Amino acid sequence: MIKAQTSNDLFQRAQNSIPGGVNSPVRAFKAVGGNPRFMVSAKGAYMYDEDGNKFIDLINSWGPMILGHAPELVEKAVRDAIPNSLSFGTPTRKEVEIAELIVSMVPSIEKVRMVNSGTEATMSAIRVARGFTGRDKIIKFEGCYHGHGDSFLISAGSGAITLGVPDSPGVTKGTANDTLTAPYNNLQAVQTLVDANKGQVAAIILEPVAGNMGLVTPAAGFLQGLRDLCDKEGIVLIFDEVMTGFRLAKGGAQELYGVTPDMSTLGKIIGGGMPVGAYGGKTEIMNYVAPAGPVYQAGTLSGNPIAMSAGMAMLTYLNEHPEVYTQLEQTTSRMVAGMQQNLQQAGQQYTINQVGSMFSIFFTDQPVTDFDSAKTSDTTLFGRYFNAMLERGIYLAPSQYESLFVSTAITPEVADQYVQANLEALQEAH
Ligand code: PLP
Repeated sequence: MIKAQTSNDLFQRAQNSIPGGVNSPVRAFKAVGGNPRFMVSAKGAYMYDEDGNKFIDLINSWGPMILGHAPELVEKAVRDAIPNSLSFGTPTRKEVEIAELIVSMVPSIEKVRMVNSGTEATMSAIRVARGFTGRDKIIKFEGCYHGHGDSFLISAGSGAITLGVPDSPGVTKGTANDTLTAPYNNLQAVQTLVDANKGQVAAIILEPVAGNMGLVTPAAGFLQGLRDLCDKEGIVLIFDEVMTGFRLAKGGAQELYGVTPDMSTLGKIIGGGMPVGAYGGKTEIMNYVAPAGPVYQAGTLSGNPIAMSAGMAMLTYLNEHPEVYTQLEQTTSRMVAGMQQNLQQAGQQYTINQVGSMFSIFFTDQPVTDFDSAKTSDTTLFGRYFNAMLERGIYLAPSQYESLFVSTAITPEVADQYVQANLEALQEAH
């Protein structure tokens, strides 16, 4: 047994002053049993906790740490920025530079607005789409998560489904009524919703590769089908690339799959580990945003100079080093191939989905293509597997309904350690 006394004590204390003891539900171990580990530091592929344990990290702060923990180029940018002021509340040169860089990297973005989180990005994007079209309804997909804005906590994935509250109390019926939902990868269902709500749908929003019901890939023709439907019906197509942006390619999933939405939302990697989000899209749509246009959206700390410095360093590096994506794909494929071999050796038949440096194992023998098939996974078995991996020093997302993220700090040797732990954990969990 690895030591956990200090984390256990802290978790006990945390529950007296923090709801559920955590500042974001996905960090809790509620679905897998046990207590979360309290981290003190991290470097490269590893995190170190209060009890002196060392973990190979497959969460990477839920995506941002694509270069592993504490990359010197990002930390230096932050150190250099600090003496100039932590915040001005005025425009700065850095905001212009990062906007220009994002526009050059992400195919759909002609203008961009910086915010402080992915949640702010998606909330703002649908407001702009509603202002632009003069329509109220949006379509989202079951099992996709777009942050905790009211409109999105309907059939929501990630922590919402992990805790059994895909439709959160506290969202008004009026708001919920304006969110229509369809199964992921089901174009016909979307067409039916659009036909039944003719001229009322402002936006279709989706994760172009879904990472919040475990990893689910878009079926051939799905993204293009949505593009064609939106063009025909005057609907704003929004790709929520908070997870996939700068991760699957420097231009995100839209570059990888060659389908350009009208708007995109970004987060995670864009801040290099600092709290940053962004939304952007076609000029004619983004010109609706105040003060250029009438749709209001603002932020005291938006474009914060320290966060912009971290983000700029991260994006500049990724932009100049496309080989990062080849390396990430190779490492992840090595891990997934090893897991496939392990399954054969253990005589088990489970589903593994992968795109680039994102992957998930589902404890079901069915292909996982949408929320319903994701839910066929044996989550009790997942819990045992998770804990067996933790015992072997591998920190996974504590839920079946999350993707794992590989960083460039995972060397082939570390990948092989992961594969060995996976074999043992598969055997132990059964
Ligand atoms: N959209 C997607 C696809 C996400 O995965 C997330 C968070 O995981 C969000 C939006 C919300 O981002 P944040 O947690 O920064 O508010």
